Amino acid sequence: AVPLVVAINTSMAARNGMLVRDRIAMERARDLDTVVFDKTGTLTEGEQGVVDVTAVDDWEADDVVTLAAAAEGDSEHVIAQAIREEAGDRDLSVPDVRGFEALEGRGVRATVERDATPAVVGDSGRGRATADTADRDGYTVSVGGPNLLRHLEIGPGDALERFAEAAGERGEGVVYILRDDRVVGAIALADVIRDASYEAIDALHGMGVEVAMLTGDDRDVAHSVADDLGIDTVFAEVLPEDKDEKIVELQDRGHLVAMVGDGVNDAPALTRSDVGIAIGSGTDVAVESADVVLVENDPRDVARLVRLSAKSYRKMQ
Ligand code: ADP
Ligand code: MG
Repeated sequence: AVPLVVAINTSMAARNGMLVRDRIAMERARDLDTVVFDKTGTLTEGEQGVVDVTAVDDWEADDVVTLAAAAEGDSEHVIAQAIREEAGDRDLSVPDVRGFEALEGRGVRATVERDATPAVVGDSGRGRATADTADRDGYTVSVGGPNLLRHLEIGPGDALERFAEAAGERGEGVVYILRDDRVVGAIALADVIRDASYEAIDALHGMGVEVAMLTGDDRDVAHSVADDLGIDTVFAEVLPEDKDEKIVELQDRGHLVAMVGDGVNDAPALTRSDVGIAIGSGTDVAVESADVVLVENDPRDVARLVRLSAKSYRKMQ
């Protein structure tokens, strides 16, 4: 039979906006000493907006957005949505692409047909044609974060580096747009920290719990958000397949660790953690990998969860 105390706990949890999928994990929550939060979509709204666009040489901002939107056509990433929206706002006609490829945790890549309609950016004889555009089959457009450039071992150049630095200081992220292997521009995007995140972290600190951030996002952006929120430890630029390793690292140092996330890329870390906590509005994969689901999408419920666990399970000893 289910012990009475457990029944009480799950219904109390439900009343507090938590769906307990694994009650053993819920019991462990009272001993947590570390909570690791995914950044995008968990501590932040997860909705990006384009705030600035820059282009190199004789390229124009509209060209950069056009190419970026073309390559991002088939991506579900929030960055892709923001870029497509920006292209719409600017009334740009975006050419079709083929061979779309998601570069997991780094960006996207696709090929723009040489004879794409509308006329392909850079073909208009404005002096942009270079040897690499002579390819009759079209050219490759890549869009990705600083980590993509590092991976490709391509530098952004002085002007774009300054653009990225300024954006980073404002807590904005930057993606670069490449035509073949040449960086032709950059787009700055901003996400908004959820109001509830500040209180969530204060509440956890008040309980003596350490808070970390785990994100695939750029180091500058991650630190800017973490500093704002008073987060103790930052793991930035972590590839999706490496997120769970960071949890193991903390566990190996003797910590009892909760992971809080919403994305497909958080699923392995949610599974690996001692208490996996999914944001209710997150992806199905995240929810199915979690021990507890925060139905109200409120990060403050993480502290409530720890408190509730302590209150309920004390009776069992
Ligand atoms: P997070 O862990 O914050 O949810 P992701 O692992 O999804 O981030 O992505 C990490 C980084 O890779 C992003 O911050 C961005 O720089 C780059 N990136 C990923 N997907 C895309 C995309 N579709 N377009 C442009 N950049 C992308
Ligand atoms: Mg996320």
